Amino acid sequence: MTHAHPLHVDLEVACLCCLAPQPFHFTSLSDQVVCVLCVHHIGAEKSERRDLEHVRMWAARCTANQTMHDAYIAETDALLVARDTDLTDLRGQVAELRALVAGQFSAGIDGVRGLLQNDLIKRAERNTELARRQIDWAMAGLWRVATLHHDDPAAKCSCGRTAGTCSESTAIDSLRQALGDWEKKNVALLQGGRRHGLPPEHPAVLAQRIR
Ligand SMILES: [Zn+2]
Ligand SMILES: [Zn+2]
Ligand SMILES: [Zn+2]
Repeated sequence: MTHAHPLHVDLEVACLCCLAPQPFHFTSLSDQVVCVLCVHHIGAEKSERRDLEHVRMWAARCTANQTMHDAYIAETDALLVARDTDLTDLRGQVAELRALVAGQFSAGIDGVRGLLQNDLIKRAERNTELARRQIDWAMAGLWRVATLHHDDPAAKCSCGRTAGTCSESTAIDSLRQALGDWEKKNVALLQGGRRHGLPPEHPAVLAQRIR
């Protein structure tokens, strides 16, 4: 009986006796396809011994396979554990960085917001102060005009003209209410020791100076 395997090379071929893949090196097509372990199984009336050897051989192969498989499983498990650890570490680092970035970002924004608000408030305060001074300045001028032109009990303007004929008095008539309010408020400021817009010749200022 011949075989069809290549000659003069190292091969792994299933042994026709034990059916296990075994190393072969054929030199002739008439070489038996029977491994070195099985050479003495052939032709003899030793079926019990043959079967026992085959079972042992397969059991050993199975154990070796199992061991390799177990080692492979253990190695894979170890890799998985290591990868889980790495992932946990990375997640921790990402969370840390995220917190750091968020903290710095919000701190920066808050800082900028604080500066802007301060600046806006300062500018608004300065504008308010400027507007107040301009109103004080205009009101002081108006007050001087009013002291020169107001109706006295004799139905005459204090400038000497007949009531109703003084154009200066008529011009400021609509402002007398606002002027009175401003004067009252500034007298109160003066008496409270605060800054006021009354002109230096205002009676309240003169009275304060005398005291
Ligand atoms: Zn064999
Ligand atoms: Zn055999
Ligand atoms: Zn007048």
